Amino acid sequence: MTYHPGRQFLQIPGPTNIPERVLRAIAQPVLDHRGPEFAKLSAELLQRIRPVFKTERPVLIFPASGTGAWESALVNTLSPGDKVLGFDSGQFALLWSTMAKKLGLVVETLDTDWRRAPDPAQIEAALAADREKKIKAVLLVHNETANGCMSRVAEIRAAMDRAHHPALLLVDTISSLGSADFRMDEWGVDVAIGGSQKGLMLPAGLAFCAVSEKAVAAMKTAKSPRCFWDWEPLLANTGGNFPYTPACNLFFGLREALDLIDAEGLENIFTRHARHAEATRRAIRSWGLEIVCAEPKDYSRSITAAFMPDGHSADAFRKVVLDRFNMPLGAGLGRLADRAFRIGHLGDTNDLMLGGALFGVEMGLIAAGVPYQAGGVAAALGYLAQESGESARIAA
Ligand code: PLP
Repeated sequence: MTYHPGRQFLQIPGPTNIPERVLRAIAQPVLDHRGPEFAKLSAELLQRIRPVFKTERPVLIFPASGTGAWESALVNTLSPGDKVLGFDSGQFALLWSTMAKKLGLVVETLDTDWRRAPDPAQIEAALAADREKKIKAVLLVHNETANGCMSRVAEIRAAMDRAHHPALLLVDTISSLGSADFRMDEWGVDVAIGGSQKGLMLPAGLAFCAVSEKAVAAMKTAKSPRCFWDWEPLLANTGGNFPYTPACNLFFGLREALDLIDAEGLENIFTRHARHAEATRRAIRSWGLEIVCAEPKDYSRSITAAFMPDGHSADAFRKVVLDRFNMPLGAGLGRLADRAFRIGHLGDTNDLMLGGALFGVEMGLIAAGVPYQAGGVAAALGYLAQESGESARIAA
């Protein structure tokens, strides 16, 4: 075994660093999941999680990773043969559409070049062209973790309304929840899908579906086979009657994480993420590398992807950074494999942690012999030292 002194900088876009307090909260003796103490805890958390989605609607919690919540959203609202609008706009959007096909849905796909978020005007046109209203749902990823492009959900909602289309709006918030502003009720989202291991600063293992009234109405007629993912028993669950063994110790962690979120304040958390995203972009530009997201209006708050210069392997670069500096960076996925690397700047992160991560990237560029311009770290630190949270919030 190789020992790396000091702590590892985990700079992948999830799973993210878990605060010590959350780790300690998880490390408690197991409770009886049918007993009164767990019923009280989960009843409290089922309420307290709602403001994180900015919803007053129920949030259902499964013992699963986010992929489970994708499936749950599809099988509870749709029937085999239903048409949905999906996107080939990044690896996760594509994986979700692929799942929809496997579940017997018919996917109409809108493409991007994987360097921008789905275009509201294109969505409006696709829905307006669907005169018979065959499209039953739009499968949108809020923050595409594979390329760092963030969808403008409010604009997409407005586009759907302009097209007078009744399709459900299903939104994956897996890498934006608790990191970037998301307003389920205000934006008219029907199912918001989340996972515990990113902005919520927990291990993987809790999957969330926040469900609108319209989604619950769709559930009543949806014919997709479902058992484990069925919403019905969870909608009836007041806390102590999960239809399976809940991930009890992650609930202890969730309570602690929500305490931390309340203490910092959601809006301050969003500002912090926006600042870190901007500092990261300044570093990347100063190094002379190209940011994968081509549209400033689509910039992600939680992850930034950068292209390697032509002729250089992003995976070889990441290996050098891991081996030499003990810092995992996110890999390029799908079409971006070996062409780009990703810096995660979400969750329990502060200015000094981000500074250290960017320092590691700059050292890695030197160590891997990648042609670059010096000064990225300085550009980021100059911004972080001067930029107050308030002005970053306005910029966000
Ligand atoms: N959607 C997005 C945007 C993701 O980033 C991920 C994972 O990183 C997933 C879905 C899949 O979630 P999980 O790996 O928790 O199953």
